[in-house]
Amino acid sequence: MSVRVRYAPSPTGSPHVGNIRTALYDFLLARHFGGVNVLRIEDTDRARLIPGCEDDIVESLHWLGMDWQEGPDRGGPFAPYRQSERKEAGIYDGWIQVLLERGDAYKAFETPEELAEMREYQQINKLPEGYFGGVWRDASPSQVEAAEREGKQGVVRLRVPRGRTIVLQDAIRGRIEFDSDTIDDPVLLKADGMPTYHLAAMVDDHLMEITHVIRGEEWIASAPKHIALFEALGWTPPEFVHVPVIKGTDGKKLSKRHGDTAVLDFRPAGYLPEALANFIALIGWSPGGNRELMSMDELAEAFTLDGLQPSSGVFDREKLDWMNGHYIRELDSEGLFERVVALAASPETSEYWSREDHASTGVGLKFAHLSEAARSEPEYAREAVVLLRERATTLADFAPACEFFFVEDPSMDPKAVEKWLRLDHVPGLFEDMMTALQGRDRVSVEECEALLRDWAAAHGFEKLGPIVHPIRVALTGSTVGPGLFELMALLGPRRMCHRLQEARKIA
Ligand code: GLU
Repeated sequence: MSVRVRYAPSPTGSPHVGNIRTALYDFLLARHFGGVNVLRIEDTDRARLIPGCEDDIVESLHWLGMDWQEGPDRGGPFAPYRQSERKEAGIYDGWIQVLLERGDAYKAFETPEELAEMREYQQINKLPEGYFGGVWRDASPSQVEAAEREGKQGVVRLRVPRGRTIVLQDAIRGRIEFDSDTIDDPVLLKADGMPTYHLAAMVDDHLMEITHVIRGEEWIASAPKHIALFEALGWTPPEFVHVPVIKGTDGKKLSKRHGDTAVLDFRPAGYLPEALANFIALIGWSPGGNRELMSMDELAEAFTLDGLQPSSGVFDREKLDWMNGHYIRELDSEGLFERVVALAASPETSEYWSREDHASTGVGLKFAHLSEAARSEPEYAREAVVLLRERATTLADFAPACEFFFVEDPSMDPKAVEKWLRLDHVPGLFEDMMTALQGRDRVSVEECEALLRDWAAAHGFEKLGPIVHPIRVALTGSTVGPGLFELMALLGPRRMCHRLQEARKIA
């Protein structure tokens, strides 16, 4: 039997790392075994639906390099792949009828107030919470008819068998037993006629011939209901794979505080999709050994369920940054420049960097300067980006790091000015440099080095520090940055003279 998996998101929000990890495991498992990956949109909860969210899901998957063989956008033998459309097509009604006729499901007519009262009673008396039958599980057909005649709004619930053990054979955790008396009767069909997740997902998993259901471990508690439903319909359940939650490095459940935002936010933040996919795959899965840096092809090659870890995965931002930096350095110069320029030009980037929590970084404006330079002096801009490559963690780092190349007057760090421009020899140094550079078109890296070394020797400096630091501050506004001689050569005589002159006024 060939592997068929499905990623089944509810379009209730843009996917985060947790959801996308499930999608990635589906994709990798299907690729590894040459199987089929299905995208199914679970949009029956109309109240929680967020318009545009399905587009974000598709965009997130594509950006990270995933694809699927069947889905709402590409059809397939089990279309439609949106549950709302499947509901319209009447796909779930027949199964509800079968369950009702067999007595494996029943109608229940409690009002929301009655259900709230029941819950309150259970809480006060410390009883298991949930619907274990109420008055309707054992109601007679005539009671049900009477309620329907009165026009009461009923739901359909699964009649979970009592007095037995329901066994979940989980691919990661192994055998888990549930006492069926502790499992409440879930709603399958809501009063408005919409199927719930319990019904729609299981019916679809069966009809779409899904072999492995990979989902978050928060669904373990519902698994016995799903197994009972499969049994009631006489179907064999798929293999369940409940992946553990993701935590922060502090051991707490992953949240925005840990930097868990929508996956699509990682793009304007400057992460490379290949780095993010690699990183996410390893949260809770290991290929064995110490392998860490893996392309999508290598991940697919190595991915089996055996490598999934039963302990919670850790979202370690430092590791992501390290990986991202690594992937940035793997890019060739042309590829790197293209990506930085594309990022700088994207409306998504300006939107992201103008958001309240990022606006103060000024990165949006710095990206605009980078874009402008890439248009007016592409060769200069490219060399600036390449020069900063070793120091970058994200593509967004290039905007602030290259800023001094692209503005006429870089902003000066007051501390650096105080420390390095007030020294007695500095005015003379700047004057001499300006004299040496004046009127020249360009100057090489070696010449820049020789200029500074010669000046140091001629003025009795044994160390180069008192020479290079003031020059760096004058040219870049800061004490840190790429190699000084390289950046001098790239800035060129005209820019250097202008900056030395401005700095001379302060010195
Ligand atoms: N629609 C469910 C969710 O987004 C999917 C769970 C599953 O994969 O079965 O949480």
